[in-house]
Amino acid sequence: MNRTALFPGSFDPVTVGHEDIVKRALSFFDNIVIGIGVNSTKKCLYSLDRRVEMLGKVFEGEINVSIKEYKGLTVDFCNEIGAKFILRGLRSSTDFEYESSIAQMNRVMHGDIETVFILSSPEYSAVNSTIVREIIKNGGEASKFVPAGVNLALE
Ligand code: ADP
Repeated sequence: MNRTALFPGSFDPVTVGHEDIVKRALSFFDNIVIGIGVNSTKKCLYSLDRRVEMLGKVFEGEINVSIKEYKGLTVDFCNEIGAKFILRGLRSSTDFEYESSIAQMNRVMHGDIETVFILSSPEYSAVNSTIVREIIKNGGEASKFVPAGVNLALE
C-alpha cells in the first residue's frame, strides 16, 4: 500500500520545526505532499510563490516530498491527491486542544482519513512562524529558525 500523507499549513515562512516533522515522517510515509492552504482572508507576509520557492529549496533533494497549493477543505484536497493521512506537528497542549477538534471534525466528515500527529523535537518546540514573522517585520535576525538556504528577504 502506498502511504501518502498531506502536511497542510501556511508555511509563512517554513521553519526548522516544519522541516523536522517532514523528515521524521518520511520514515513511515512513502510520500508526503506539503499543502499550502490558500485562504483569501488570511494576510500572509510571504506570497504564495515565495512560500512554494522556500519549501522547494528545503526539500529539493527529497523525491518523496512534493509541494502543492490548495483551496477549500483539507479533507477534500486529501481525496483529490489520494492521501489517506493528514500529518500535523504538536508543540504544546495548546496545539493539542486546537488540533484535536479539527482532527475529530475531519474524521466525522471523512472517516477514512486519519490525522497523524508527531510531537515536536524539544529543540524546536518554541519555533513558531508567527514569532518568526514578527522578528522579520521588525528587522531582526531569524535565520536560526528557518532551514539553511531559505531566503527570508522581503520584496
Ligand atoms: P497552520 O497555519 O495550519 O497552523 P503552520 O504553517 O503554522 O500552519 O503549521 C503547519 C503544521 O506544522 C502544524 O501542524 C503545526 O502544528 C506544525 N508546526 C509548526 N511549527 C512546528 C514546530 N516548531 N514543531 C513541530 N510542528 C510544528
